[in-house]
Amino acid sequence: MNTNEYIALEERYGAHNYHPLDVVIREARGVWVTDVDGNRYLDCLAAYSAVNQGHCHPAIRKAFMAQADRVTLTSRAFRNDQLPLLYKMLHDLTGFEMSLPMNSGAEAVETAVKAARKWGYKVKGIPEGKAEIICASDNFHGRTTTIVSFSTDAQYRDGFGPFTPGFPIVKYGDIAALKAAITTNTAAFLVEPIQGEAGIVVPPEGYLAEAARICKENNVLLICDEIQSGLGRSGKMFAFEYDGIRPDMVIIGKALSGGFYPVSAVLASKEVLGVFRPGDHGSTFGGNPLAAAVACAALTVLKEEKLVERSFELGGYFMERLRSIESPHIVQVRGRGLWIGFVLDTKARPYCELLMKEGILCKETHENVIRFAPPLVITKEEIDWAFERIRKVVLSLD
Ligand SMILES: *Cc1c(COP(=O)(O)O)cnc(C)c1O
Repeated sequence: MNTNEYIALEERYGAHNYHPLDVVIREARGVWVTDVDGNRYLDCLAAYSAVNQGHCHPAIRKAFMAQADRVTLTSRAFRNDQLPLLYKMLHDLTGFEMSLPMNSGAEAVETAVKAARKWGYKVKGIPEGKAEIICASDNFHGRTTTIVSFSTDAQYRDGFGPFTPGFPIVKYGDIAALKAAITTNTAAFLVEPIQGEAGIVVPPEGYLAEAARICKENNVLLICDEIQSGLGRSGKMFAFEYDGIRPDMVIIGKALSGGFYPVSAVLASKEVLGVFRPGDHGSTFGGNPLAAAVACAALTVLKEEKLVERSFELGGYFMERLRSIESPHIVQVRGRGLWIGFVLDTKARPYCELLMKEGILCKETHENVIRFAPPLVITKEEIDWAFERIRKVVLSLD
């Protein structure tokens, strides 16, 4: 079958909840993907940062295959010999006392919301049913009914109510607004250190540090959603490190498995995750041995290949090159690490389609922003290769 035949099948039998570029990928290695017609592309999206380690990384693949041959799922009714190793590795790598594994990012966000609420009632002493979790405007935390309850994107909510109450919204980047929104019933402030889906929006200098201080002052938990920004994407292990803070809870996912399998987790202290008692929360697949083995391998690759450092250095290089393009259509080039928002004064989709013809896959976010976020294993030469094509496309449009 060729591209058009696959697309016809998908359009006919699949729900249309996405609008993908018309490229049908058959194979991928590292930063390169190949479609069913044999065309090769440089992947500049990296599955929204789930393949930071590069596609089909051999070391992760090896762990995946070996574990698939032994045992894949025990359920948490029994213990398995891989999950304890993941707990230990997450602790050693991040310094957080405990973690709780889930599958998708949205499930981990739900887990953090439940932990924060329970902590609010059992530890902070908020009256039953009154706990609030403050969220930021333009956030993206996933797609469950509760999570879209605190989205400010009309489309994410349209037709999905009634919504879960208890999530006041403050403007992202506005410290005064956060201060004003905190009450004695505030359990937590949930925030992305850099907003990915909103278009790689970096908040004002010191925002997170100040937010952390205010949260501490008011006995409010600071929850950082690092599902996209974390595990090296921003040029640090976690984007919150730029502000020199330590959140009370951190949510990770995506690159935690290097793209092999859905694995997510919440990292926190004993005081916070200790609120869960047996039976309070769970997931059939959460913490399964295949997921744990894959996550350990994915984290090991991150460390051994120094992908965090690579992201920092090569991200700076890529951004500098992109900033050198002189075009009236470029409004801003922003971001951190290999996580770059290329802001145009016009719709980004046609640029993405032209870039595809040039052999670069990327995706527009919010109409006028192109996100450049290749796997962190990309080389300087590959960045130069991409840059020449991006420049050509940008200069070709008027
Ligand atoms: C992708 C993402 C999520 C949701 O993760 P899923 O695995 O798609 O459920 C949540 N928060 C952020 C910041 C994300 O980028």
